[in-house]
Amino acid sequence: MKKYTSLTEIQGKLTQKQLKLQDLLSYYFEQIEKNKHLNAFNEVFFDSAKLQAIAVQEKINQGTAGKLAGMVIGLKDNICYQDHQVSASSKMLEGFVSPYSSTVVKRLIQEDAIIIGRLNCDEFAMGGSNETSYFGPVKNAADEERVAGGSSGGSAVAVQADLCLAALGTDTGGSVRQPAAFCGCIGFKPTYGRISRYGIIAYASSFDQVGTLTSSVSDAALLMEVLAGADEQDSTVSSLPVPEYSKFITQGGKKKIAVLEETISNEALDPEIRQTILAAIEKLKSQGHTIDYVSFDLLDYLVPAYYVLTTAEASSNLSRYDGVHYGYRNKDAKNLTSLYKLSRSEGFGEEVKRRILLGTFVLSTGYYDAYYQKAQQVRRLIREKVEALLQNYDMLISPVTPTPAFKMGENIQDPLVMYMADIYTVLASLAGIPAVALPLGNNAVGLPLSIQLMTKHFNEQELLALSYSFLNEAQ
Ligand code: GLN
Repeated sequence: MKKYTSLTEIQGKLTQKQLKLQDLLSYYFEQIEKNKHLNAFNEVFFDSAKLQAIAVQEKINQGTAGKLAGMVIGLKDNICYQDHQVSASSKMLEGFVSPYSSTVVKRLIQEDAIIIGRLNCDEFAMGGSNETSYFGPVKNAADEERVAGGSSGGSAVAVQADLCLAALGTDTGGSVRQPAAFCGCIGFKPTYGRISRYGIIAYASSFDQVGTLTSSVSDAALLMEVLAGADEQDSTVSSLPVPEYSKFITQGGKKKIAVLEETISNEALDPEIRQTILAAIEKLKSQGHTIDYVSFDLLDYLVPAYYVLTTAEASSNLSRYDGVHYGYRNKDAKNLTSLYKLSRSEGFGEEVKRRILLGTFVLSTGYYDAYYQKAQQVRRLIREKVEALLQNYDMLISPVTPTPAFKMGENIQDPLVMYMADIYTVLASLAGIPAVALPLGNNAVGLPLSIQLMTKHFNEQELLALSYSFLNEAQ
């Protein structure tokens, strides 16, 4: 049982003086200590978090505290926080201290959130099981022989095991939603361009977005309204005004919803997930929403297009790790070329190297048109198809994952099996639309199950409101 599942509960106790922030923080420190074996944290920021707790408690006493006062939050270890280490769970960046804070961190601190530490993830956010981390895999608290999901596996387990109230992750092709689904949390990925990427260690820049992992929709909404919005440091962020999402979550209304037929009828889908999603669809109907089944015939193209484009972008983004500017540097290199070669081959893990090779290949002369350009065209098709559907429907439904959390070691030897498991999450990433993974209880052996809702670009408000009413959070 989690002690608290929403900031509203915590703030209630804080204002009535039934709880002190330092005690809340100590509770989470104890939880982290008790659950060390899960390997969710790469580092706990004991000192800075304690100082923050003292400062924010003072503000609470004086009635000047920000919106997130009382929120103890963890950061995926690819989000920069000034004067703190950030490693992307890679040997390449082991020991690297960030000289500046990301925009998301600045906004969290401005609203008085307490940052408790940095959370394990797949190396450079490349993976779907948290097994590619240089610091070892994260264990799923529902079954420790199973993966947490990835790449934001530490973020999901930290929320699942009550090691902090909420966590930030990043979602390039499902890295917030898939681990949330495996761990029974709410994983929210906004529209591409809703939240600044300034100070986020880049994987694939036309896909990367910050997302939230929480136990309540109200916390996701509150975080979204703090984090979203224009930023001078990132020109891809939209300047559209940011609604006060948390004020609107109760104003849902009846929606027209399309279920993507092929995603449910797909034979690879675990039968318990199918059954549970069908039951969820009945619940939505009984809540007064209209549901249609529509065909989405581009399913086979999603994973190939995603992996061609993201590896291409990764090969370019990761070229900065050259052993010279920063990061791991081989000490014995005799000349510049061998310095590059040795530092990069020793600093990066297997999966990252595979993707750099693949990405360099699809961008090379003679293959660019056949792979990279074609994948760009396929992305356009997918986006147009999704936009056409969303002209007629408010929301789309699909599973988040084909199976519940799999066993450690089960898929890691076969990259294709691992990549195919991303089939349902990469759709929203290719189209750039917002999407959420919502928990649907557990299967017969206690593993969390989940459903995915997606909506139009910048329609976060309705997505959060539907999620809230679907989960009956008000009761
Ligand atoms: N599993 C996907 C991948 O490996 C998604 C990763 C992510 O969203 N960062 O690319």
